[in-house]
Amino acid sequence: MTGYRLDGKTAIVTGASRGIGRAAALALARAGAAVVINYARSEEEAREVLAEIERFGGRGVLVQADVTDYKACEKMVQCALDHFKRIDILINNAGITRDNLLARMKPQEWQEVLDTNLSGTFNCTRAVIKPLLKQKSGGRIINISSVVGLHGNSGQANYAAAKGGVIAFTRALARELGSRNITVNAIAPGVIETAMTAVLPQPVKEQMLSRISLGRFGKPEEVAEVILFLAAAGTYITGQVIAVDGGITM
Ligand code: NAP
Repeated sequence: MTGYRLDGKTAIVTGASRGIGRAAALALARAGAAVVINYARSEEEAREVLAEIERFGGRGVLVQADVTDYKACEKMVQCALDHFKRIDILINNAGITRDNLLARMKPQEWQEVLDTNLSGTFNCTRAVIKPLLKQKSGGRIINISSVVGLHGNSGQANYAAAKGGVIAFTRALARELGSRNITVNAIAPGVIETAMTAVLPQPVKEQMLSRISLGRFGKPEEVAEVILFLAAAGTYITGQVIAVDGGITM
């Protein structure tokens, strides 16, 4: 795909069983990184990602861990260290939606989205930070936010709050870790063709399409390209939010 190389590096990709996480895991492995393929429930799909990596001679390991569970995230990081001896890159990608208008939103719908998208990002980053600092060789943290975290969206107050929180977390951490040469950036995808958006009703899809300059939805590989760039290059980029949205007007 590109000339970027990550030989000798280890990357953890949360929610790598499908969609954007899957595309990121494949792109990072193709560039030579050993990849921790994390999933919570979709073991079969995650196994297929590992099989595909192994088919092209890449290295990976499957780790089941629910990112809402801090202890499970710690175990995932230990597993990465046991297998590959080091960690260089964390892609906080695992995420869910529970869309509803606020007047109908159940507290559980609010909590699940905050727990997975925002606290999950904290849990994995917190679990990875000590080994990363101990290595003294810099690092990359890439958080998958959303255009909804920048602009908001009706029916997604929970998701907007979580993804906006991810952006604020990214900016704060970039300041905290800059002196250790660890860059922290966020990507804000627009509408990407994955299982998450496949469930949107056709009229909603058409309405969204009309607001996208490029006139089409994005592909997971188009987000993965930017993830790879930030992981393998982007040496002087930190605390930024990079929109990968085809020119969307929210
Ligand atoms: P997706 O196809 O639904 O995949 C979500 C992934 O997250 C799956 O691998 C899922 O694995 C995993 N996951 C969910 N809850 C988890 C948990 N508690 N612990 C560990 N893994 C968990 O979604 P996607 O569209 O690729 O989205 C990936 C990220 O991009 C999300 O953060 C999403 O908010 C963001 N994003 C997507 C779009 C879009 O248009 N698709 C736009 C903007 C931002 P299991 O099935 O095993 O749980």
